[in-house]
Amino acid sequence: MKIVNSPPEMKNLSLTAQSGGSTVGLVPTMGALHEGHLSLLKLACQYCDFLVMSIFVNPAQFGPAEDLAKYPRPFERDCELAAAAGCDCLFVPQPQDMYPENYSTYVNVENISDTLCGASRPAHFRGVTTVVLKLFNIVSPQIAVFGQKDVQQLVVIKRMCQDLNLSVKILTAPIIREESGLAMSSRNVYLSEKERRESSVIYKSLMAAQELYESGERSGEAIRRRVRSIIDKSDTVRPEYVEVVDTARLKSVDKIDRKVIAALACRTSESGTRLIDNIILGGDL
Ligand code: AMP
Repeated sequence: MKIVNSPPEMKNLSLTAQSGGSTVGLVPTMGALHEGHLSLLKLACQYCDFLVMSIFVNPAQFGPAEDLAKYPRPFERDCELAAAAGCDCLFVPQPQDMYPENYSTYVNVENISDTLCGASRPAHFRGVTTVVLKLFNIVSPQIAVFGQKDVQQLVVIKRMCQDLNLSVKILTAPIIREESGLAMSSRNVYLSEKERRESSVIYKSLMAAQELYESGERSGEAIRRRVRSIIDKSDTVRPEYVEVVDTARLKSVDKIDRKVIAALACRTSESGTRLIDNIILGGDL
């Protein structure tokens, strides 16, 4: 597996691979790899023959009071895991090469970037779409894989691709979970033992939402209430939002008459870790 730091070198490598007839795939990450990330690589492997994973802890998507400095960066372990999962090239740009002095250009997907997680993380999705478009321009992938775990990110990126006529095909990978049901996340390392145990309440609440939906309930409010009532049993996991939204505009739905996303964000009381999760009711994304 090749490791590349320089954006121009990455661009050359990708263009050379493509002119040799290869299909280039990209899996963007912030590193601290876990089974969730590796499942994205496995999915991408099926559709491309030159597989790039980027590892970049993107400063533009962190708020001033967020965990940019302490975000885990176990680089050597990441290299081993990525290589073992079939990655051909790890692209690891440096912040000063992605955002040099006088950097001034940002991409903002309006309307759907300021709801859900965007409500408490105002510049987050602007940072995400900016870096993802930059990565697309550097790597020129024909396919890119994102996880359903970050469902708003996925919807926002798909919107950007459509709105800006990008030709990259976006593939979605399902959420990989711990045995307890907790969605895998690089931030789970922040959790205390008690928080990790109690965080399983999040998936339980989403399973209850699914059961309610399958029993015929079509009121968004009833489903939101059920999810909250289960999370409220834990004094360690506190909901920031619980929403049932449509899959295109991410607007709250009262009467469910098409597939919807039941999405939530919680914060744990001891370490203050923010956890997100979601489930699609009535279909796939
Ligand atoms: P991150 O490194 O957290 O920015 O995530 C990089 C990519 O991995 C994103 O597309 C995420 O949605 C995806 N991802 C993160 N956690 C999981 C998970 N538990 N299951 C599936 N995909 C995931």
